Amino acid sequence: MKNHLVRKITRLVGKAIGDFGLIENRDRILVALSGGKDSWSLLYSLKAIQQRAPIKYDLGAVTVHPGPSGFDCGLIEERLIKDRIPYHLIRGRIVDVINENLEEGTNPCSFCSRLRRGLLYTYAADNGWNKIALGHHMDDFVETLLLNMFFNGTIKAMSPDLLADDGKNRVIRPLVYVKEEMTREFAQSLGVPILGCFCSYQGMSGSRRQWVKSLLTSIDKDVPHVRSNILASMGRVHYRHMVKRLQNKSCCET
Ligand code: SF4
Repeated sequence: MKNHLVRKITRLVGKAIGDFGLIENRDRILVALSGGKDSWSLLYSLKAIQQRAPIKYDLGAVTVHPGPSGFDCGLIEERLIKDRIPYHLIRGRIVDVINENLEEGTNPCSFCSRLRRGLLYTYAADNGWNKIALGHHMDDFVETLLLNMFFNGTIKAMSPDLLADDGKNRVIRPLVYVKEEMTREFAQSLGVPILGCFCSYQGMSGSRRQWVKSLLTSIDKDVPHVRSNILASMGRVHYRHMVKRLQNKSCCET
């Protein structure tokens, strides 16, 4: 682990924790560890902060196995045993469920993420983890906002701190200030096994998202802080200067 990277990422994660009150004394935080660079970065930045934080919190990790046999959690387990991080594997039949129930027009990876989320919430609630930490980073927040604006005509992104729809689970996203390129660098420096999905739907996570990602990268050449600025704008909404609709009417109804 490279020290300057640890300092950089923990400073940003620490700021998010402070700004949004993400972690409190005696919290039990369960990190959803997919085996990708983002979730590894989240787990090890929270672990680094845990070692010097003035408050005490428990940290554990869970992986929801998507089903395909190529996805080998043994490597994850080995690493977490070595670093003494409590770990649990949930074996799902997710890809089978997708194959059996996918409706036309539904993105398999979005469906997959909803199924995984369900298993995760149940496991967390049954085992006394009061917060679930997800590895969404700044690029995810910004891309989601733009996708919703461009294709759904709505202003909706992600929240760093959200009470889940079931009203029981609290979902936190401490990487909100961390750019994707930093998670790539940090995960690499950890020397952890980076796992892909090993599923036939791989690469279908969304061409629209890829398009938005490329758009932001090209804008970034002229507006270097475009992602940070868009993220900041999510917290500075001037409602008085937005479009107000009459009751029960969409502003764009014709
Ligand atoms: S490729 Fe998509 S559907 Fe397959 S396991 Fe990964 S996220 Fe799920």
